[in-house]
Amino acid sequence: MLDKARQLLQEIYGFDEFRSGQLEVIENVLDGKDSLAIMPTGGGKSICYQIPALIFEGITIVISPLISLMKDQVDALTELGIPATFLNSTLSLQEMNERLRSASNGEYKLVYVAPERFQTEEIFYLMQAIKVSVIAIDEAHCISQWGHDFRPSYLSLCETIQHFSYRPTILALTATATPVVSSDILHLLNIEEENYVNTGFVRDNLAFQVVKGQERNRYLLDYLKINEGQSGIIYASTRKEVERIFELLQSKKIPAGKYHGGMKETERNEWQEKFLYDEITVMVATNAFGMGIDKSNVRFVIHYQIPKNIEAYYQEAGRAGRDGLPSDAILLFSPQDVQIQYYFVEQSDMDDEHKKLEYTKVREMAQYASTQVCLQCYIVHYFGDECKECGQCSNCLDEREAMDITKDTQKVLSCVKRMGETFGKSMVMKVLTGSKDQKVKHWKFEELSTYGLMNAMPQKEVTQLIDYLTAEKYLTPTDGQYPLLKITEKGALVLKGKSSVTRKQAQKAHKVAIDDRLFDRLREIRKGLATLQKVPPYVIFSDETLRQMCQLMPQTEN
Ligand code: ADP
Ligand code: MG
Ligand code: ZN
Repeated sequence: MLDKARQLLQEIYGFDEFRSGQLEVIENVLDGKDSLAIMPTGGGKSICYQIPALIFEGITIVISPLISLMKDQVDALTELGIPATFLNSTLSLQEMNERLRSASNGEYKLVYVAPERFQTEEIFYLMQAIKVSVIAIDEAHCISQWGHDFRPSYLSLCETIQHFSYRPTILALTATATPVVSSDILHLLNIEEENYVNTGFVRDNLAFQVVKGQERNRYLLDYLKINEGQSGIIYASTRKEVERIFELLQSKKIPAGKYHGGMKETERNEWQEKFLYDEITVMVATNAFGMGIDKSNVRFVIHYQIPKNIEAYYQEAGRAGRDGLPSDAILLFSPQDVQIQYYFVEQSDMDDEHKKLEYTKVREMAQYASTQVCLQCYIVHYFGDECKECGQCSNCLDEREAMDITKDTQKVLSCVKRMGETFGKSMVMKVLTGSKDQKVKHWKFEELSTYGLMNAMPQKEVTQLIDYLTAEKYLTPTDGQYPLLKITEKGALVLKGKSSVTRKQAQKAHKVAIDDRLFDRLREIRKGLATLQKVPPYVIFSDETLRQMCQLMPQTEN
């Protein structure tokens, strides 16, 4: 049967080789083993259930969370010559019945169903009328309350499946599951641990970058100019921001579209189609855009604001480079955006326990912007996996010299200690900088030996230092909205003078006027270099390189 699988891969999809994990999952499914497959976004999960669907008798039901995308998914299959259809609330009763009839006559191999529909009589009818060989649960992290996109209708799937007169093989698929979420999915669906296929989370064609301390509009426009004609997504955290950025791009004649929950569905869909068919190159969107969208040539995903957590970030950023070619995943970081995400959590109707968890997740996302370890590794570690330095993220490429900051670190840590490890970072910063704040007085912190110990440093820098020490795990914040700083074992060693700390220091940003003529030249050079050295353009135009090139270039020359 595996030969058959390979043959289908070549004949129907036109691919030579299976990607990592695909064959293993397909083999499991063909053997009738319930499985959980974790593969990165763009890793090729769909084929894992589509190929078995073609081999098995009867039909495969695919649970997919977004109604708006089912049509696209089905159209894509139809184009490949695979008979498929979908059942969801957009259909009239008559259409629904027609499709059910055709499905029970075996006219389709795959039937996409919204999770809400899965509980209904139609499904039980279908199960009786025709053999359902496999139930594929796409975006399976929605099952888990500990996931980042919990949906009650997904949880009730598990219940419904128990009531079927026979048990089809279950295949759960997701790209973003922390160890807690994976084990929750295994447990809820009764999947055995040995049928858990995890291809790892590394996306080696993505160059992760964090951009800090730069004017974001300027950065964005510069980036788009250099990468003119390339397809990409810009994520913003509010509808208002999407509108603003969209207008900015339009005013610069950049072929951009927009997508957010406040727009009419028809308008949204129109932009989406235009983006998918490359009529526009840039999509400005909230996180409402993108789930399940399979556009292979997305060359960059830029987050104009920090998203709510690492799962969301990785899923959104992962929409770049599905074709495996080098692509950029850029976060434009500004510290106050973290507050927006805290605010969203505060306003949500989650219970306190979940809120606490979400605050912590926001913070872990924010630390991504402060860490100096490989960005790919930071993410992969978050998902509980091992990782080798990627060599292409902005941290790996950061050539600034690492300075010894052991003394400053000791100052911060001993201050935290003297304050009893019962305060948050802003209070620690105030004490260190010798602030006259009422609260400092109230707690009599003026009497501490660490009071004012770092008064030569601006408050902002001390805050950044604390963020850095937290990201590098010398300090660990407690859960919740107002976390208290605790010293880790790693931090304790530094306090005792048993280990040292280094940090690549921020340089003063060079303000460089980048005019159009310079950019035209840069583009020419990029073309030249790309053909000469076969170096992917994104490497040459890393942020720092670009700025250096601009400085090297005589600005008066024609
Ligand atoms: P996921 O659902 O895991 O995010 P998809 O199933 O949508 O990913 O696949 C992502 C892209 O990879 C699609 O364009 C798909 O055609 C392509 N793809 C999948 N499997 C292979 C393969 N074995 N070889 C080459 N391309 C593949
Ligand atoms: Mg998918
Ligand atoms: Zn790296």
